Amino acid sequence: MNETCDRCGPAVRAAYRVQEQGELTLCRHCALDVWPTLSAQGWSILSIDATTLAPQAGEQDDAPRDVGANE
Ligand SMILES: [Zn+2]
Repeated sequence: MNETCDRCGPAVRAAYRVQEQGELTLCRHCALDVWPTLSAQGWSILSIDATTLAPQAGEQDDAPRDVGANE
């Protein structure tokens, strides 16, 4: 099942699902873009792809991190 990014359109595969009052699916770029805003509002941001670990905007020590994505 291929989810697509609600912001970029059907050409872009979503990497994250965001749930609160509704549900959004976002690609990695969009998820990172809106992450601070959504987390501040209490939305849950979940990785769709189990191999894609959720990045965290905060400094939680127990948060999973993307390893080596840009390095
Ligand atoms: Zn997008």
